[in-house]
Amino acid sequence: QVVTRFAPSPTGYLHIGGARTALFNYLFAKANGGKYLVRIEDTDKKRSTPEAIDAIHDGLDWLGLLGDEEPVFQSQRAERHAEVAQALLDKGAAYKCYLTPEELKERREAAQATKKPFRLNSEWRDCQPGPDQEGQPFVVRLKTPNVGETVIEDMVQGRIAVKNEEIDDFILLRSDGTPTYMLAVVVDDHDMGVTHILRGDDHLNNAFRQLPLVKAMGWPEPKYGHVPLIHGADGAKLSKRHGALGVDAYRDEMGLLPEAVFNYLLRLGWGHGDEEIISRERAVEIFSAEGIGKSPSRFDTKKLLNLNGHYIREADDSRLADLTAAEAGATSEDDKALLVKAMPELKARARDLHELAAGATFLFKTRPLEMEEKAASLLDDDARKLLATAHAALSALDRWEIEVLDTAIREVAEQHDLKLGKLAQPLRAALTGSNTSPGIFDVLVLLGREESLARIADQMT
Ligand code: GLU
Repeated sequence: QVVTRFAPSPTGYLHIGGARTALFNYLFAKANGGKYLVRIEDTDKKRSTPEAIDAIHDGLDWLGLLGDEEPVFQSQRAERHAEVAQALLDKGAAYKCYLTPEELKERREAAQATKKPFRLNSEWRDCQPGPDQEGQPFVVRLKTPNVGETVIEDMVQGRIAVKNEEIDDFILLRSDGTPTYMLAVVVDDHDMGVTHILRGDDHLNNAFRQLPLVKAMGWPEPKYGHVPLIHGADGAKLSKRHGALGVDAYRDEMGLLPEAVFNYLLRLGWGHGDEEIISRERAVEIFSAEGIGKSPSRFDTKKLLNLNGHYIREADDSRLADLTAAEAGATSEDDKALLVKAMPELKARARDLHELAAGATFLFKTRPLEMEEKAASLLDDDARKLLATAHAALSALDRWEIEVLDTAIREVAEQHDLKLGKLAQPLRAALTGSNTSPGIFDVLVLLGREESLARIADQMT
């Protein structure tokens, strides 16, 4: 069975690159009828905070990317990690290294002087500790092979070979007995039954240490896929400067829908022909590692917003009303019902939820309306007179329905030899306090007769 995992270090928010890694692992598992797991790599006690763990959980939850099982917390498994280090010592695949920090420093400096890359050759690799070492601090290092090469058939990068002489005898257990990240990852992946590892290509170097460790234990080798990182529109690695925000900011600040972010992240560095709009169900059907691009993808905010606009138009009206009610100023149940009713018109023009809410505020404003600057400038003396004529015509109507209103307003425009827009603009200003809104007849219907006539009367002379 295919088992994948997303293994974030909870040292900040869930950033967009991490969310994409989670997504790819989720989809790879689901596309292959497998299992997708989450592991919180919280071994860096100083930097891992409960807030960060919550932020990751919330972000994954929002995107529908929580694991199939409860998350594994790496920090709780230190004993098991040490047990594996001991097993490696027992089989002679690892050794206790008694080099002191000073000795290491000297060697590093000596290497620097010769301008050759530093590669540690510890004499403890092939020598047993004697009575002098009794009670002395040591670290446990893996005996990595010195000859030949380590080859990874990467699902994304293809075949990559590294000479074993370039891989040092890295540390498994520190002198205080705590496991290193390298050891913890390999042990946890094995114990969780992970078969496929998709992650950022900043971990490619690690794979060439992790694989020898897997082999030393005689465990099944996982398949690796190292995904190029996300770059900003300018081609540089994505950073805060590019608005590389936490997933929570995509929801709260940018007002995006999770399905839009899901679709966008999927297309960011992965492709299937020229399909752009891809639902979760469709993605599970067609996802495969072959579609992952080999070069960094560029983050494109405009594309993301366009996708979001698409998903807003597709979304259920009462769900959108729930998401925007507070911001739009809808307080009572009646307000909420009105918001749902207005939604088909409102959502046609919004690309994010804040825009959607802003477009709905006119429904819940109290009289006399506060005029936005652009709306106020539409209401000159002529416009105010025109409003009085429109008011008279509308007051005379016995039905307040879209066709009836349409006919009446057009008649007033014709009487004054005006294009419809010339009348619609001041009407819109009077009715909404803004110069943008849904169609003017929809606005009249949504506000109802009494409120519409009162708002017009407030502005006419
Ligand atoms: N915890 C690592 C990170 O957040 C990922 C480790 C891995 O995927 O192997 O970058």
